[in-house]
Amino acid sequence: MPMFDTLAQVTTAGPRNTVDGRMKVLVVFGTRPEAIKLAPVIHELRKRLFQTIVVSSSQHKHLLKPFLEGLNIDVDLDLGVMKRDQSPNDVAARVIAKLDRILARERPDLILVQGDTTTTLAGALAGFYRKIPVGHVEAGLRSGNLMSPFPEEMNRRVVSQIATFHFAATEKNRRNLLAEDVATEKVFVTGNPVVDALKYMLKNLHVAESITDLIAETNGKKRVLLTTHRRESFGPTMIANLKVLRDFVEKRRDVCLLFPVHPNPNVRSVAKDILGNLDRIHLLEPLDYSDFLAIMKSAWLIVSDSGGVQEEAPSLGKPLLVLRENTERPEAIRSGVSKLVGNSPGSLKQMLEENYDVETWIRSIKEVANPFGDGKASARIVKVIEEKLAAKSLPNSVQGSLF
Ligand code: UDP
Repeated sequence: MPMFDTLAQVTTAGPRNTVDGRMKVLVVFGTRPEAIKLAPVIHELRKRLFQTIVVSSSQHKHLLKPFLEGLNIDVDLDLGVMKRDQSPNDVAARVIAKLDRILARERPDLILVQGDTTTTLAGALAGFYRKIPVGHVEAGLRSGNLMSPFPEEMNRRVVSQIATFHFAATEKNRRNLLAEDVATEKVFVTGNPVVDALKYMLKNLHVAESITDLIAETNGKKRVLLTTHRRESFGPTMIANLKVLRDFVEKRRDVCLLFPVHPNPNVRSVAKDILGNLDRIHLLEPLDYSDFLAIMKSAWLIVSDSGGVQEEAPSLGKPLLVLRENTERPEAIRSGVSKLVGNSPGSLKQMLEENYDVETWIRSIKEVANPFGDGKASARIVKVIEEKLAAKSLPNSVQGSLF
């Protein structure tokens, strides 16, 4: 079942500036969250009759492929950069080199990148070197610590230096950009398109039988959903966190743990060693979006270091312990849905135990207005692109500050 029905809603409005009368937008992504967040934007661009060139770096090849099918996104060009044990330097170098040839050939009117992955940074830099304007979706997130999340905090800061159009999810993100002297006329508060994707998906869930069975099998248990994959948690912190979770579940017969394990070998090996073959602990392959949302909806508590999960939890009304030292998404904490664990397994243990003994916070969490968006971000983003590219050339103020 396609995620978005693009063709049914085609409109005839929109800019027509290229040889065939259409503006050309090249969209680059490489990981699961980028695909989720850019899918609604790509569909909206097509609805508005932009010519799109969808480029996947395949930075996370195995995670990405099933997602693209579910999101109804066809990749036009696959850079195929993924290698075993790749470093950010490997990824950046290969994405820039391969993308440059495509940019020289295609000469898009705009490059669209999302978030803060190494593909995002490489895509923006490749555009800059070719003097092609860059639009940045999910601009203005800041943790204030260059080493956490690593390398994402640096990636997004550099993209903010490059981008011509900054699509900020929240007012706070806009203020972060202005504080770094990004020109106010280049920043647009649009919301985060993850909420667009989430809303659509929740209305069109197609849950695999194995997941429906797992939810039935764990009925009556307090389900803890875990995701952890961040580079800065690898090693001792992740090992200690997993041990805390194992002990917590082992001591409480009414608790179970569901853990879709990220394919990164740093996560796989410790997950298997610490959590393998234990009662009430279910190690799962990475789930497709529908299946993951079904489990999120059924969770008693979510424990996660994911960025996207922090943005989704408010719409689902699920309590979330954020397994990070800091968060660039304080809006989720302020909404009352999330609590920050910090970088200490001891604090995870304490928070799990306290919230098990006294469930006041967990029971109080209800669906709240999502601080990251209202489900209309992609329409706003494309409207800005349409208006800005409609003129034959970009406004002087934009060109002047870009180059
Ligand atoms: N997600 C998913 N299946 C999984 C784990 C996560 O569909 O097994 C989704 C989740 O709902 C969120 C996104 O993937 O939208 C988050 O991806 P990830 O945690 O890899 O990246 P981050 O958001 O931390 O950049």
